[in-house]
Amino acid sequence: MAIVVQKYGGTSVGDVDRMKRVADRVSRTHRDGNQTVVVVSAMGKTTDDLVSMAADIGGEQPPQRELDILLTSGERISMALLAMALHERGVQAKSFTGSQAGIITDAVHGKARIVDITPGRVQEALDGGYVVIVAGFQGVSQDTKDITTLGRGGSDTTAVALAAALDADVCEIYTDVDGVFTADPRIVPTARKLDVVSYEEMLELAAQGAKVLQVRSVEFGRNHGVRIHVRSSFSYTTGTWVGPEEDKVEDAIISGVAHDTSEAKLTILGLPDRPGVAARVFTELADANVNVDMIVQNVSADGRTDISFTLPRGDTAKAQAILEPLLDDVDGAGVLVDPDVAKVSLVGAGMKTNPGIAAKMFSALSAADVNIEMISTSTIRVSVVVAKDDVETAVQAVHAVFGLGDDADEGRSH
Ligand code: ADP
Ligand code: ASP
Ligand code: MG
Repeated sequence: MAIVVQKYGGTSVGDVDRMKRVADRVSRTHRDGNQTVVVVSAMGKTTDDLVSMAADIGGEQPPQRELDILLTSGERISMALLAMALHERGVQAKSFTGSQAGIITDAVHGKARIVDITPGRVQEALDGGYVVIVAGFQGVSQDTKDITTLGRGGSDTTAVALAAALDADVCEIYTDVDGVFTADPRIVPTARKLDVVSYEEMLELAAQGAKVLQVRSVEFGRNHGVRIHVRSSFSYTTGTWVGPEEDKVEDAIISGVAHDTSEAKLTILGLPDRPGVAARVFTELADANVNVDMIVQNVSADGRTDISFTLPRGDTAKAQAILEPLLDDVDGAGVLVDPDVAKVSLVGAGMKTNPGIAAKMFSALSAADVNIEMISTSTIRVSVVVAKDDVETAVQAVHAVFGLGDDADEGRSH
């Protein structure tokens, strides 16, 4: 018997009718003879609504422990309703919270990492012939025994991690688009669906803002060899397979363009240019769990230098609170915050062996009159920071110059 893990995102379970359609699909998978585990997200915008309710009642920084308990309730509503819908269809189903399903995490509220999975109850229910439904996006801390959440988009990670622990045959991620595209189809209508994308490329795309998969889910997939099928819950067409590089038949140089508008840029002015200062700045930020992304240090003048970096916009106040006393200590000049930035990234495994990709990207941005504020690269990625107002123009320009779209004949990069 095959083990199939299916994950349904917020839009796919957005209202009662959609929930019923998911139940039909799950029943069909079960009746086809598969052991079926279903991971559900909160319905529609429930998580956003809970976040804003918490902000209204608890201020900007409500107690993290309580916020996590609140947010996990969204997925619990979905799991119980889906179990009921399956019972209505004559299918035995049991729902479990993340904690009951054995999703063990560290104690970092709001972005906990899974450290272990003990799916004894899930396996037992599967062996008893039940469809198992698991609330996504949540676990329980090994140390504090408190309920944690896995970060926005975390239900993807619940699904892939469970698929790894159960040695499932496939992990299907059902969402509101047909698969992984060469760019966010909401911004680039001509974006093309990819048939196969490698773990490495998907990791870069996800890390750079293509929110169709949470980055940690791809890490799990790669580390445990889970085949991930990203597809639409509104059709039965084949989506995109995420797997090892050798699964790719098409040898494209570029796989896609990702964008991220969730970061801010912070510049520390007038830092003394001597060994140990940067180490101190970034150690203190790391100790406070601030995820720093792109870092650029300027040429120094008169023994002083500026360092700019990007970070999640929500962490800006925390970073400023850390940096201000530190700046007093090292006699720095101040901190500038620019919340209106966006990051645009070009990703493709073929970059390793093809020179001129960055130059072509920068020329396209220049032709579109988009100014580049920061640049960073990896072996398979080039990222730039631009003004937030320019993000759509920038994504479209880069997507077009590499001929990634469905309507592109000229200049195609594969
Ligand atoms: P779900 O609620 O199903 O988890 P998400 O909203 O988290 O769905 O992710 C799906 C969305 O990701 C799509 O609606 C799409 O706008 C966005 N997206 C961004 N980049 C891409 C991409 N390269 N390919 C497909 N979708 C993308
Ligand atoms: N409901 C959570 C969120 O909106 C988790 C998820 O959907 O994956 O981020
Ligand atoms: Mg998602």
